[in-house]
Amino acid sequence: MTDKQWVYLFNEVEEAEKNAGGTWDGVRALLGGKGSGLADMTRAGVPVPPGFTITTAACNAYLAEGEKFPAGMWDQELAAMKQVEQQTGKKFGDPSNPLLVSCRSGAKFSMPGMMDTVLNLGMNDQTAASMVKLTGNERFVYDSYRRLVEMFGEVVLNIPDEAFEHPLAEYKAKKGAKVDTDLTAENWKAITEIFKKVVRENKGFDFPQDPYEQLRLATEAVFKSWNGKRAVDYRNAAGISHDLGTAVNIVTMVFGNMGSNSGTGVAFTRDPATGEKKMYGDYLLNAQGEDVVAGIRNTAKIENLANELPEAYKEFMEITSRLERHYKEMQDVEFTIERGKLWMLQTRNGKRTAQAEVKIAIDMANEGLITKEQAVQRVTPDQVDTLLHPQFDSKAMDQAKGEGRFYAKGVNASPGAAVGQVYFDADTAERMKKEEQRDVIMVRPFTKPDDVHGMLAAKGILTSEGGATSHAAVVARQFGVPCVVGASDIRIDLERLQMESDGKVVKEGEWISVDGTTGQVYLGQIPTMAPRLEEQTDLLTLLNWADDICATPGIRQAPEGWPTTGLQVWANADYPKDAQRARSYGAKGIGLCRTEHMFFETERLPIVQRMILSGTSAGRTQALNELLPFQRSDFAGLFAAMDGQPVIIRLIDPPLHEFMPDEEKLLEQVIELRVKGETKGLKEKEDLLAAIRGMHESNPMMGLRGVRLSIYMPEIVEMQVRAIFEAAADEAKKGVIVKPEVMIPLTGTVKELEWIQPRLVRIAKAVMEEKGVSFSYKFGTMIEIPRACVTAEEIAKVAEFFSFGTNDLTQMTFGYSRDDAERNFLIKYVEEGILVKNPFQTLDRDGVGRLMRMAVTDGRKARVNLEVGICGEHGGDPASIDFCHLVGNNYVSCSPFRVPIARLAAAHSALKYKGGQVSAFEVDK
Ligand code: PEP
Ligand code: MG
Repeated sequence: MTDKQWVYLFNEVEEAEKNAGGTWDGVRALLGGKGSGLADMTRAGVPVPPGFTITTAACNAYLAEGEKFPAGMWDQELAAMKQVEQQTGKKFGDPSNPLLVSCRSGAKFSMPGMMDTVLNLGMNDQTAASMVKLTGNERFVYDSYRRLVEMFGEVVLNIPDEAFEHPLAEYKAKKGAKVDTDLTAENWKAITEIFKKVVRENKGFDFPQDPYEQLRLATEAVFKSWNGKRAVDYRNAAGISHDLGTAVNIVTMVFGNMGSNSGTGVAFTRDPATGEKKMYGDYLLNAQGEDVVAGIRNTAKIENLANELPEAYKEFMEITSRLERHYKEMQDVEFTIERGKLWMLQTRNGKRTAQAEVKIAIDMANEGLITKEQAVQRVTPDQVDTLLHPQFDSKAMDQAKGEGRFYAKGVNASPGAAVGQVYFDADTAERMKKEEQRDVIMVRPFTKPDDVHGMLAAKGILTSEGGATSHAAVVARQFGVPCVVGASDIRIDLERLQMESDGKVVKEGEWISVDGTTGQVYLGQIPTMAPRLEEQTDLLTLLNWADDICATPGIRQAPEGWPTTGLQVWANADYPKDAQRARSYGAKGIGLCRTEHMFFETERLPIVQRMILSGTSAGRTQALNELLPFQRSDFAGLFAAMDGQPVIIRLIDPPLHEFMPDEEKLLEQVIELRVKGETKGLKEKEDLLAAIRGMHESNPMMGLRGVRLSIYMPEIVEMQVRAIFEAAADEAKKGVIVKPEVMIPLTGTVKELEWIQPRLVRIAKAVMEEKGVSFSYKFGTMIEIPRACVTAEEIAKVAEFFSFGTNDLTQMTFGYSRDDAERNFLIKYVEEGILVKNPFQTLDRDGVGRLMRMAVTDGRKARVNLEVGICGEHGGDPASIDFCHLVGNNYVSCSPFRVPIARLAAAHSALKYKGGQVSAFEVDK
């Protein structure tokens, strides 16, 4: 015997709290989401059928001990059963007044439908017969009994579904019954016998008549289902840890199938698709819960219940609003009405779309239920990403309609646009995605938990049956996959692998477009476009709150002189139109303008090539003078777009051969001319080829580029600095507030800066004098080479700002080529766990991060107010942003499209470390 408490009655939540360390999170971990919800509702006086929870710790012990109940657990389960008997006045297995229970899984984090449940435990031949007398409803009794035999057979005894489905279908056909409701009491009784025979034939023993044997086996089956394939797949996809275990809830059965004053349903306290504050759900009269969730029967809308069972509806509305206020979260509830009496069977935080998450957070903050900080914390950067995902272009949609390509309409279960090829089962959908990299739309009559791998592989999901709370809808919403359910005009033929709607047939592999936002489905491929952030008012409000949090002085603990507000978000933008977008997305500056991109434009490239090929400084200067007006107008556009905000312009960085024609192609042309004996143009091409060959380097990324190129050929950057300052001066004269910051790339030693920077500063000053204006400016450097990090104190004596170029810094720190590594070994490294994440996507804190921390700390020793940013790809990655907050960056800079995501991530970090649990310079994971 052990003292450990493995079992808690629903009315023992205080004990659970005590034993789980006093926190609600601890209770959820111990009793699971469902068990803790039922216990908490019991405490709040909500009508919950009596029952108890066997803990997740018991599940873990069971699995660890080679599938044996831990010592004392079964005795505690029996004792709890006695208590439930007392609470209900019924007895488990007693024919004169039988207690029936359900056995339900429930892990800490909801895993809808992934694990097992068995209903109606306690029924056997004797109790069934006596229940007929007690209820006077033989049809209900044998419908319930056959459900037990079937579920027990499938879930506990692992008999395949078809073993029950086929004889049922045969029986129905024989009796001419189309739907289940056509079957009589006699029929269900006969079916129960058929199902018992199925058990005997498949297992070699009889369906257990002993209720305690049923209970024991069902408890074990739920424990085991934690490690079932679909549960494991789901946890992998949802990022849920595999060592949590599931609790088992034993709940007194209440029946929604006891006639027309009984029913069952599921509902969300707000609309899970849009977030609108309105009860949203489905119910069925005279049915059991699984009928609603499986989406097999067409359900009624919850508001209709007000007409059918007004008393129960009123109580339901009152309880659910109480639950929402209690949890300060949108609730997803399950209820049953047994002969007019309402019972709540579950409450949990409801899964919702990204759009709903944002709206609910904003509304609840405005209702005073939560703070603005909590609202910001609730929304994840991934959800913001989803909201910025493509939508269908409305013009293209109108056109498709005009061309007769409208196919069907269903429920808009999960928003977003999906275009892909149709596949009708989960395995094929997954294979087509993984092996053939196809865009897949998974089409099914309805989905089951076994289909989740296909749903995750799909770009979009379409079902012909089921409603907004069906399995397909819930899972799609959770993973942000666009989804339309219940498109009932579509008839799916799973044998011929095709579907048909209004005479139009779509075969496997054909393209369709699914609009999860409107519920419409179209034939063929409809173009998509980026959504307009300015139209997403709730998201804009949330991001403004996020900015306010970051702008709060003192929110970041830091040494004297370091930034004490959170991170700002700047953007990488090369052209004025990118800068405008960045600004409209909330960027507070330009952190990187890669000037060389401008050299590639058609009119300019020949001039650039002429400049490179000219052997003399004078020749180069002449070509550069032609480029100057182009660069000046590019920069003027940037300054105008960013009026009042800093603009960091990086001087030329790549090796010059990148601007030259392809060597192989040129060689082919030369050979062709020689073979044909043509002389016209041959000499020019030969000279060009020789020049390109002369520029060849074995390791160009470690060669003549960045500041080395500027020192080797200063004319280029001299022109660029002149263009920057002429543009800034011209704009300043027009009243624009200009804040140019000139960035020198790839510095490895301070001597490089000492050589080049004063020359450039002289040009800047000369231009301002010529133009008769003066404004403040900065000269700084990118930190992209480990040596720069190690000697940052020296470098900061010259550089007025640092910007981490973490693409190169990662390349040089690991010695992995940023251009090739992801094509070969790097993916394997991640799969094998040699690297936790791809370091080109998420900053490697232990190596690259440590160098960054050294650079910031040492740099600020020389210049305490040194401005520090990041402009590598990591600047838009939330985990990397978190690290930048910790090391004391002033800002992160990322592509304009990621600016909203970065704004939210920056606020999350500011809130996470607020109050100084971690100081800005003591960094760790
Ligand atoms: C970097 O190296 O991180 C960077 C931003 O520069 P580029 O990607 O242009 O080399
Ligand atoms: Mg770089």
